Amino acid sequence: MKRVDPRRQLPSVDAVLRAARPPDADRERFARAARDVLARARESGATGDAAAFAAEARALLDERARRTLRRVLNATGVILQTNLGRAPLSARALAAIAEAAGAVSVEFDLAAGKRGERHGHAARLLADLAGAEDACVVNNNAAAVLLALAALATRKEVIVARGELVEIGGGFRIPDVLRRSGAKLVEVGTTNRTYARDYAAAITERTGAILRVHASNFKLTGFVARADGRDLAALAREHNVAYINDLGSGTFLDTAKYGLPPEETVAGAVGEGADVVTFSGDKLLGGPQAGLCVGRASPIAAIRAHPLMRALRPDKLTLAGLIATLEVYRDGTAETELPVWRMIAAAPRALADRARAVADRLSAAGVRAEVIETRSAVGGGSLPDETQPSFAVALSGPHVTRLAAALRRADPPVIARIVDERVALDLRSVLPEDDELLARAVETALEEGGADGSSEHPDRPSPGAGRSV
Ligand SMILES: *Cc1c(COP(=O)(O)O)cnc(C)c1O
Repeated sequence: MKRVDPRRQLPSVDAVLRAARPPDADRERFARAARDVLARARESGATGDAAAFAAEARALLDERARRTLRRVLNATGVILQTNLGRAPLSARALAAIAEAAGAVSVEFDLAAGKRGERHGHAARLLADLAGAEDACVVNNNAAAVLLALAALATRKEVIVARGELVEIGGGFRIPDVLRRSGAKLVEVGTTNRTYARDYAAAITERTGAILRVHASNFKLTGFVARADGRDLAALAREHNVAYINDLGSGTFLDTAKYGLPPEETVAGAVGEGADVVTFSGDKLLGGPQAGLCVGRASPIAAIRAHPLMRALRPDKLTLAGLIATLEVYRDGTAETELPVWRMIAAAPRALADRARAVADRLSAAGVRAEVIETRSAVGGGSLPDETQPSFAVALSGPHVTRLAAALRRADPPVIARIVDERVALDLRSVLPEDDELLARAVETALEEGGADGSSEHPDRPSPGAGRSV
């Protein structure tokens, strides 16, 4: 058989353009897409005429025009999913953000009629909630840790327990951040056990700070020991160095009230005598992405005055959403107003009822769905390994990964979890007011595309093994 060089059969970009006749405004972009599809064909050896490549280029352009940053339904059962934007905002925060979208007194003192302080707006409220002297806000907690170290320990040594030299995720490694802040890391203790006396032995005239870091998504169990925060605060004071406590998630509410293990609260960490306590705005706090610093007046003032602050300061929308979130705590309505706490506080019975309603609705539409008992997680690096009882709608079929992919193509995309060869839609991380949207999105996605879970498909899904209710 005679081999034909496939390249000879490819039309030119001009020929594809002539076949497509894109509007003038689109011509440049279309030509780029045509070049890309032709290059792809050259690689794969595919052939076709100008009209076929014109259609392919048009499809590629449409794909490129589609937004990739989209609202999704988080049915993973992990409430604080970093990949899915962490804490969903409350209605109050959303309203505040919308109001701040136009002209706003972000750096304007309305009483005095002159330039004001960006940092003043959230500081009082935040400090009061934390029981601290003062507070300030930056872009995220990584920035808060970096800035606290840069302001309080540049060119000095910072003492950290070996067991706390963690990588939080997304490449945020405590030793790297320390280096970038200009501080020098001094490790103390062993991986599993560190005592206050280890810190004491490492303090010299070069010491700038003692840093404690929440181990976040990493858990040390067994033969472990950690120095008491009060001892570290006393030690720091005695030697006139700063004690910085990075709580990671940070919480104002007691997680033990919800059947979870107790997580150190922000007020608790401040009460131990830390100079600066840092935490995230979009983890357990339930607000927008932000880094919060609370603590004693003089270290907070040093952080606020640091030149890096200008690069790390929060924008007006973040401030507006954060202040509204803090007001919810002030008003004592977090459990009913903040989505994160509503999800954590949801009773298993209520989750079971919702899962039943969604499953019934899907069944009525011909989708094989059943309710299963499962475990959900808080996520966001808080409470590693700890789960809460939850209920999910399980969709089963021979091709679970295809089924999950079909759900990701839904409108809005549904992000699920695969449990025991089934696709589980865990209702813990979905707000009740979104159940209807979830059911509709799943139903439509399975009717149209993947069809893996619809009754029309030859591979009709059947209930898999596992405990169902
Ligand atoms: C999450 C986390 C961070 C980073 O916080 P971001 O707000 O994501 O920047 C830093 N330290 C700890 C201990 C964390 O858990």
